[in-house]
Amino acid sequence: MKTIMVTGGAGFIGSHTCLTLLENKFKVIVVDSFQNSSPIALEKVNFLLEKKIINIKNKFKIYKGDIENLNFLEQIFKDTYINQKIDAVIHFAGLKAVSESVRNPLIYWKTNVGGSINLLKVMEKFNCNNLIFSSSATIYSNKEKPPFQENSLKGPLSPYGNTKLTIEKILEDIYKSFPNKWRICNLRYFNPIGAHQSGVIGENPKGSPNNIFPLILNVAASNSRQFEVYGKDWETNDGTCIRDYIHVMDLADGHMTSLNYLLNNPPQFINFNLGTGKGTSVIELIKTFEDINNLRIPYVFSKRRSGDIPIIIADNKKAVEFLKWTPKLNLSDMCKDGWNWKCKNPNGYND
Ligand code: NAD
Repeated sequence: MKTIMVTGGAGFIGSHTCLTLLENKFKVIVVDSFQNSSPIALEKVNFLLEKKIINIKNKFKIYKGDIENLNFLEQIFKDTYINQKIDAVIHFAGLKAVSESVRNPLIYWKTNVGGSINLLKVMEKFNCNNLIFSSSATIYSNKEKPPFQENSLKGPLSPYGNTKLTIEKILEDIYKSFPNKWRICNLRYFNPIGAHQSGVIGENPKGSPNNIFPLILNVAASNSRQFEVYGKDWETNDGTCIRDYIHVMDLADGHMTSLNYLLNNPPQFINFNLGTGKGTSVIELIKTFEDINNLRIPYVFSKRRSGDIPIIIADNKKAVEFLKWTPKLNLSDMCKDGWNWKCKNPNGYND
């Protein structure tokens, strides 16, 4: 049984990935400060699995702490290595709000880049050389025509995107310093939405949400609010921005297949786009949400947001070929499962 450390495991993508890993017989060690998440997410993962997995307590460990604290990270490796090694790390922990990163870039560099360097130092010290990193489609340049391939031009527009691209470069340098040792995979996510089909875990943004889907869920759950669509004059069919939405459970599955790929192949440094390859406009997303859930989302148009780009779509052929992974769930599933989570948990984890 392989042991995987999951930094940021209580977050949106992290919690769904922990569930998938545990269901597929991995042991999981979560490291999370809970600064943007709730420990209840992990209690819910435990709840979903306790009847299926014997002795889950020994297979699912949780450490509360900050990846910026080197001693804390070292102590977890020391404690774990008494009985077992850590076979790989999936590194989700970090800050992800583009607009906040524009207002406060230093915090983004400190947490995302500084925290990643700490993690890498400790991994190096304990000879743990297998890593999956949460990168993002935001690293691609808007000068490139979508769909983006892994080798498309890079050119992030925000400090957040800059930190992601910088971490990728650090990882490439580390790989090159010991190419016979490191197995590193950057997963560049497109737009993860939806929730686990049970509605027991889902996206639980702290404070006001920044992403489109939690905003739609909030409008759907309120009788009064309207959804704001930024721009109706983009160069797209209906004038609204197009994104590549992917179900969070397909993304979780993408992490598991990447892990199996890395652990069963020679040392390497590799990048994969995790998206569906299908573009959906804001209006199409709203319509699908309305149809599948049989409700109305009132919306108004407002001006374009600075920094937005009209079309972001993944070319996911490389992931499909190398990982034998294909997204199985469609936009209706994403809208149905996301709404199911919201109906069952109107206030998120409510802690
Ligand atoms: P999230 O905010 O829900 O999860 C991040 C987790 O990291 C949270 O649980 C948070 O408490 C934890 N964390 C933050 N700083 C920490 C620190 N210093 N020490 C320990 N824990 C810390 O975000 P998410 O949507 O699950 O995203 C996970 C990763 O994927 C992030 O790195 C994000 O940049 C990346 N990503 C997300 C998206 C998306 O749309 N959700 C898209 C592309 C990439």
